[in-house]
Order: sequence, then structure tokens, then C-alpha cells
Amino acid sequence: MKKRNTILLLGIFSIIILITAQLIIIRGVWKQKDEMFNLRYRLYSQDALDVMNRQWATDGFDTARILISVKSEQVLRNLAANKADSLTAKEKNDLIEYITLVLNKEQDLSQFLSRFFERRGIDRNFNSKIVINRFELINFDQRIPVFLSEEYANRRSPQQNDTLRRTGPPPGMMRQPRRSSEILVKRPFYETNSYRLDFEYLIDFSDKQKIILRETAASLALSIFSILLVVTLFLITFKNLMEEKRLSNLKTDFINNMTHELKTPLSTITVAGKTLELPMIRTNEAKILETAKLIGKQSVHLNQLINMILEISMWERTQFQLDKKKVRIEEFMNDIVDSFRSGGGNGATITQKYNFKDLDVDVDTIYFTTLINNLLSNAVKYSDQDPVIQIEGFTEENNVCIKVSDNGIGINKNDQKHVFDKFYRASTGNIHKYKGLGLGLYYVKKIAEAHGGDVTVSSKPGKGSIFTVTLPY
Ligand code: ADP
Repeated sequence: MKKRNTILLLGIFSIIILITAQLIIIRGVWKQKDEMFNLRYRLYSQDALDVMNRQWATDGFDTARILISVKSEQVLRNLAANKADSLTAKEKNDLIEYITLVLNKEQDLSQFLSRFFERRGIDRNFNSKIVINRFELINFDQRIPVFLSEEYANRRSPQQNDTLRRTGPPPGMMRQPRRSSEILVKRPFYETNSYRLDFEYLIDFSDKQKIILRETAASLALSIFSILLVVTLFLITFKNLMEEKRLSNLKTDFINNMTHELKTPLSTITVAGKTLELPMIRTNEAKILETAKLIGKQSVHLNQLINMILEISMWERTQFQLDKKKVRIEEFMNDIVDSFRSGGGNGATITQKYNFKDLDVDVDTIYFTTLINNLLSNAVKYSDQDPVIQIEGFTEENNVCIKVSDNGIGINKNDQKHVFDKFYRASTGNIHKYKGLGLGLYYVKKIAEAHGGDVTVSSKPGKGSIFTVTLPY
């Protein structure tokens, strides 16, 4: 039990390590693919920008640049007219909003990229994004910038960030850190007489996860497959180990039981032999006869036991040889039950009810007799009260059915699955309250199958058992 738990724990532990290792590998592969994807598109975009520059002699932001210039000059003029040297918060906000809008709307880069990607047959489902890093209005008469945009949060010093948290970010300057899915295509810097602008043009693919998933599908499937394979192999091995352990326990039980079974008649014979040596017995003819009969009976029992074991080991190697004869089944059943009764049915009450009419069935009479005898002697043996046995016989779809019901101790559900196994003894193990080798029902099953039939059991612990034998006719 302890060993089994250790193996189970070790197995589960190794499987967890394996799954963790696989997950780490998958994560690594995913990250690598993600970086490759970004790199690939950065290079494609670079190509696209080069082509655009060469063919159109533009970077796609010409209109935007002019519009921003016009706006900047207008704002500077207003400032001069108002004799102010800086913008109000609202004016700053409006200006940044305007610039962002213009850069987004009045640009040809997105369309060009999209067409460029399409021509190359690669994914073109991206969203573009403009992030302004810095904007300065320059009043060249005074030669100082009148409005300097704040650096973004992630580029500030911690102290600056603290202040910012308290006062809130300046208008238009909200910048989230760049997401890993965003690819930087271009970071232009424009300088004119009225402004300086530094911004980023980013693209973001909505289908990126799907594309990476498609690319990693094979290695992902392999990983899952290898995990499943290892788990299955572990389960099979563990099951086999348990089965072997069960068989080895069964064999040990069998050897114990067999020793016990063989010892009983042998010791009786030994004692009887010693008795015959006594001078007072030798003169008593009746006693001699009684002892001789006892020796004879025990020898027959011993012989039967040994034959059964030999026969079973022979079945393992050779085919079951039946010597079938036609018998009138009802008469034959009556004969078997009568001789069971006279052979010491141990005071069992046996009732019989047959519905065979004059049916003749092909059976090996010796084996068939053993089959019924085994069922009857089990019904007597596994009973804690006066045994009451009912035998019912009828035909059903070209089969002869024989039901043997008893009022014995019954068999629990789990044992019912195994009672026909070789050496199996229900839960009693080698406790010798009920003697046996665990071969009787195995024998019954083998004989029934050799006749092309079968045997089944249904039982309720404490209530009794019903064994049903079916044979084709
Ligand atoms: P044995 O009787 O030698 O142990 P069998 O193969 O005849 O072996 O039976 C296997 C097991 O099935 C028995 O150990 C017993 O626990 C259970 N069994 C068989 N017949 C009956 C019955 N009529 N009532 C209750 N238990 C039974």
C-alpha cells in the first residue's frame, strides 16, 4: 500500500514537472514568435517607408505638417495679440488634440502600408496609432519656446511622477506605456519656424494572437500530445503494476489455501494409519473397516483436489477437449441433484422446477456434472443458516438456462466482478472459515464457455446469490 502510494505520488509529481516544463517551453516559443512577428513587420514597414520615399518623395505626413504649421502660427499670433507668454491649460489641451487629430486623419502612411502588406500577401489588419512625445511652439522673435509639452510619464523621474500623480497629467499628455503588441514604424521629428514635433507612429495587429497561434499550433499539439502520451503510459503502467500485485496476492492466497486444503485429508490419513498400528484396533474388525473407509474417502478427496489443479494447469496449455453426448436435460439434472443429495448435500433443502419438456442437449456429461456440483456445493458452503437451494430450468432463444439460487451469505458488487477469476476468493482471502481454492467458479465458467455458453451471477450480500448458466442447444 505504501509502495503503491509512493509510486502514484512520484508519477503525479513527474507529470506536474513535465507539464510545467512544457508550459515554460510553450511560453518561450510564444514570446519568441511574438518578437519575430514584431521584427518582421518592423522590417516590412521599413521597406514600405523606403519605397514611399523613393516613389512619392514623401513620408506620408506632408498635409499634416502644413496644417500643424498653420495652426501653430495662428496660436503664436493670438499669443502676441494677447500679450501673453504662455497658453492656458484649455488652449494647450485643444492644441494637442488638434495635432493628434490631424496626424491621424491627414496622413497617407496607413493606406500605403496596408496596400504594401496586401501586395506581399501578408496580414494587413492593423490599427495605427499616433503618440505625441513632445511638442514645442517656438516664438523666434523671442527665441524661446512658449509652450513646451511635458515629457511622458514613463520618461519622467520618480519625483516628477509623484508631482504628476498629485496634480494630474497635463492636458493631452496622457500616455500609457507602449503595449507589447504595438510595433513602432516611425518616429519623426519635425522642426519648422513655429514648432518642433516629436511623435511616434505605431501599428497594432488585431489578429496577431491568432497568427502566432497558427504558427505555433504544430509544436503546441506535439506538446499536448506528448503530455497525454506520458499520462496514458503512466496510467497503463500503474494499472499493470496493480494488476500484477493483485495476481501475486492471489497466488500467495492460493498457495496458503491449497496447503490448508491438502493438509486436512493428509493428516486424517496419517492419523488413521497410526490408528491401524494400534494392537487393540487390529483385533477389532469393525474399527479396521471404518478406518479403511475413512482413508479411502480422504484419498478420493485428495485425488479430486490434485486432479482439479492438474486439469486447470493443463487447460492453460491445451484446448478444452469435450466428449459431448445427447442427454435429456431434465432427467440428467434430476440425476445430478439426486446424487448430490445422497453424497451428503449437508442437509440442504433443494427444490427443482424445470420447463424443458423433452429437450435433448449436447453436453459433456462429466464436466457438466462438475459444473452443477460446484454451484450446489458453493450454495451449501457459503451459507450461515440451513441452506435452501432452488434450481430453475427453462429455455430462452435457443439457450438452455439453469438458475441456481441460494439463501447464503451473498457476494458484494466488487467481488461479483471477479468471482469467476482463477484463484479469486471473495474478501475472505486465506481466512479458512470457508474452505476453498478459488477455482470452483473458474472451473464452472471454463466449462460453460467450452460448451459455447456462459455463466453470470447476481447477488445481494446477506440475502443470497443466483448463478445462471446458459448453454446453446
Ligand atoms: P472457492 O469456493 O474455492 O473459494 P470458487 O471459485 O468456487 O472458489 O468461488 C469463488 C468465491 O466466490 C468464493 O471465495 C466465495 O467468496 C464466492 N462464492 C461462490 N459461490 C458463492 C455463493 N453461492 N454464495 C456466496 N459466495 C459465493
